[in-house]
Amino acid sequence: MQVEGIDVWRVLKGAGVKYVYFVIVDIYGRPRVDIMPIDMAKDAFIDGVPYDGSSIPAYSTVNRSDFVAVVDPSAVYVESWNGGKAAYVFTNTLDGNAPSPLDPRNVLKQVLERAEKRGYQFKIGVEVEYFVVRGNPPELPEKAGYFDVPPDATRKVVEEIMENFAAAGLGETKTHHEVAPSQFEVNIPYGNPLKTADSILMFKTMARAVAAKHGYTVTFMPKPFWGMNGSGAHTHISVWKDGKNLMASVKEPTQELKWVVGGILNNAISISAIVAPTVNSYKRLVPHHEAPTRVVWGLGNRSAMVRVPYYGGKINRIEYRHPDPSMNPYLAFAAVVLAGLEGLENRIEPPPPVQEVAYDLQGVRETPPNLGAALKYMEEGKIARELPSDFVKAYLGVKQAEWQSYAQQYQWEKTWNTITPWEYEQYLTTV
Ligand code: GLN
Ligand code: MG
Ligand code: MG
Ligand code: MG
Repeated sequence: MQVEGIDVWRVLKGAGVKYVYFVIVDIYGRPRVDIMPIDMAKDAFIDGVPYDGSSIPAYSTVNRSDFVAVVDPSAVYVESWNGGKAAYVFTNTLDGNAPSPLDPRNVLKQVLERAEKRGYQFKIGVEVEYFVVRGNPPELPEKAGYFDVPPDATRKVVEEIMENFAAAGLGETKTHHEVAPSQFEVNIPYGNPLKTADSILMFKTMARAVAAKHGYTVTFMPKPFWGMNGSGAHTHISVWKDGKNLMASVKEPTQELKWVVGGILNNAISISAIVAPTVNSYKRLVPHHEAPTRVVWGLGNRSAMVRVPYYGGKINRIEYRHPDPSMNPYLAFAAVVLAGLEGLENRIEPPPPVQEVAYDLQGVRETPPNLGAALKYMEEGKIARELPSDFVKAYLGVKQAEWQSYAQQYQWEKTWNTITPWEYEQYLTTV
């Protein structure tokens, strides 16, 4: 039986939900919400939510601004961190009667349908890293490291985040203190990429709210502190056919796994502006901090861009380490799936896996030096031509403006190894 929006409304009403937050995803992958009391929301579950598309980057222009967002009945999260009074309901925007190509959820849905038509299902899970900080410029409340017992300063925040993770319907997860002081990681469970992307937005929203209750800020900026590890969003990918994981094997990677790696490495430079989309992202992609700089892959190699997890020789997925949590996950997953599909269809054989620490390898391609360069590669690359052209145009527009705003104030050659006030202003609490 197909669940309709109105069925969801009845369940929410019955559960005592007081407000509905209708979520429209913007081009940065951030949630924008229209908030309605539950009774008023009933009609919106049937007819959709009307809104001003010209005020959400970058749906439209002011002369063509009336859009309708229809609810996705399979994407509903009841807020647990504020007493369960509100429900977040994701939407898809229509342009006339067709899905708007400027809605990132629509962009990803179309790419997943394309994969499905060719008989493939991609499943994606993500490790999201973040810092718990205070103030701007941010201060670190504690100095613990990898797998340390969290000191009191961050422990209460992290435990409350974990409690709410399950309660908000984000699934089961685990957490640990990461390498850098006051840095943590959480695992967004693997599954349908659209759901994983929704979960990332909900996770960030929840984690921010919980930290704020304790007087802290949770930041997802990729490199808040120079000289320490940054925060990645390692993206774990498996490809399935007829219910079977094509990447499952022992010791030797499968042919399909290698083709997907081939597709991702071939496109990695031109999708960098999508998976690492901020000025600050490129300060993370530097040697010796467990983030990739060389476009290579390896088994169990955390300095490579793609690592094949290889615990006891058992293989079931690949880990793409290039993305960071400032990405728009819908767009990033769309790009990754397109790159993987290209690898499968064109049987792209990757170069041999590397065993060495990759940072010093000579004669291999490197990640772009900064956002400006990454945007040029994106413009010239194949994946940008396979995504809806209106979306790509809008994305390049906002991202070029972001780069220009930085470049007008700072010279990259002089600031690549320092975190500027502009970045804190721009990213600390927003990405
Ligand atoms: N923080 C590292 C990054 O930026 C990853 C560290 C780890 O998970 N081992 O990608
Ligand atoms: Mg991890
Ligand atoms: Mg980690
Ligand atoms: Mg990892």
